[in-house]
Amino acid sequence: MKNSIFIIQKHHSSTLHYDFRLQIGNILKSWVIPKGPSLNPKDKRLAILTEDHKLDFADFEGEIPDGKYGAGTIIVWDRGSYQNITTKNDKQISIQEAFKNGDITISLKGEKLKGNFSLILLRHQNEPKNWLLIKQNDQYADNKFDPIIELPNSVISDKGIEEI
Ligand code: MN
Repeated sequence: MKNSIFIIQKHHSSTLHYDFRLQIGNILKSWVIPKGPSLNPKDKRLAILTEDHKLDFADFEGEIPDGKYGAGTIIVWDRGSYQNITTKNDKQISIQEAFKNGDITISLKGEKLKGNFSLILLRHQNEPKNWLLIKQNDQYADNKFDPIIELPNSVISDKGIEEI
């Protein structure tokens, strides 16, 4: 299995949120996570599918001017590689197929986030863009340590979002 990149950008636009991006082929599939990821398997974090981004956006930190799409301040909150470990009927399936099925399991090797996570599409809803990001129970699961609070800064510059 080849590794692809993932990135989480902390984005202060009209509201503070986290943009979770997974490389699928040569684009970044993107979800807005209002509360950010959790290491507690009991937390189900809403992840709203949004526009694809180009791969070269992965390292972007800085200011997007008012009036432009995504206006506000962005830092790279976490980055690394991921492995697709999604199975269906006990068979490994591709990340493209997993995305289409609305049922993705990945193993992250980030600077902050590690271990297995699921992204599950909420089906019986009017809004077909709502997914949930859930930490799976493994050695990296933690119901006490909150990386959003404990590790707020950029993994590139070590700056806080208010210092950009
Ligand atoms: Mn955003």
